[in-house]
Amino acid sequence: MSKHIAFIGVGNMGNPMAQQLVNAGKQVKVFDVSEQAVKIAKETGLNVVNSLDELLPNSSTIISMLPEGKHVQELYLGENGILKKISQDSLIIECSTIDIETSLKIGDHAKSLGVKMIDAPVTGGVMGARVGKLNFLVGGSQEAVKLATPILKIMGQKILHAGEQGSGVGVKICNNMSLGISMIAASETLMLAKRLKMDLKKVHQIVKEASGNNWALTNYTPIPDLTDGVPSNNKYRPGFTAAMMKKDLKLANDAANAVNANTPLGKAALKIFTDFCEEGDADTDYSGISKKIGGDTWNYPFDPKGKD
Ligand code: NAD
Repeated sequence: MSKHIAFIGVGNMGNPMAQQLVNAGKQVKVFDVSEQAVKIAKETGLNVVNSLDELLPNSSTIISMLPEGKHVQELYLGENGILKKISQDSLIIECSTIDIETSLKIGDHAKSLGVKMIDAPVTGGVMGARVGKLNFLVGGSQEAVKLATPILKIMGQKILHAGEQGSGVGVKICNNMSLGISMIAASETLMLAKRLKMDLKKVHQIVKEASGNNWALTNYTPIPDLTDGVPSNNKYRPGFTAAMMKKDLKLANDAANAVNANTPLGKAALKIFTDFCEEGDADTDYSGISKKIGGDTWNYPFDPKGKD
């Protein structure tokens, strides 16, 4: 019997990632604790099993895509942790965005059991996952990364090896702190111009060509009708939610505190996104932060939970 890929956590990201593997002809079995995720997985043709005991035997690779560090810790090292159940020749690809400490703890444990593991969080979001164009930010030994690469290439376009285990989540956390800050900067720039009653199309075009440009301003513009295909054109439906940006900024803040790094803008961004979430906008795309920044001058179509 040929070995299969065991995919754990088929939510917004995991489901389309698992589908890419199936479409590429891989044998894939999936498991999730959520009834809703299981229902969608079955509807989308994935081979769902009912328990980890059913999932793990005869698997060559284990991929996990879970919400937070506590879920990942429980899965691998908890009371029924799977690390002690999987065979030594398995490869673990842990794709969740989690804290460095948890990633290192699981990586060390895996190493002590002779199991190869990489951390491989992603950028590119649900859209990237659906078309197999994620970017994987990878941490782990050369050997483990080489083994994982053919599988990652099915789900992604770039495989960016940052260093040893924990480096993938490390670079992801640093990147998303920069992204959160940049999204606020792009929002402030455009909302200041709006208050100054300037032509926003011209301001956007000029700043994109000038030294104030950043990725959020160009590629994920936080107000509508300036860039094609972004959530601000679609009533701020996610995309990548404000709650997720808050989570990543919190990870960055915790990481900074742990090593005494000075990140005043990271801290300010965390506070701004936390307030935004607490004001009822957690499910809005994170570019919706322009609403909070713009205040009473912000007047764009807004229906982040709608489906029309
Ligand atoms: P999600 O909540 O939609 O999916 C996570 C799934 O994991 C859920 O279906 C949940 O039931 C399942 N799960 C939790 N604990 C489990 C367990 N012990 N066993 C099996 N299944 C379990 O989240 P998502 O949007 O798919 O994000 C997953 C990860 O990817 C997060 O760490 C997130 O930060 C990161 N990420 C998300 C995006 C995005 O745009 N959604 C982009 C980049 C990175």
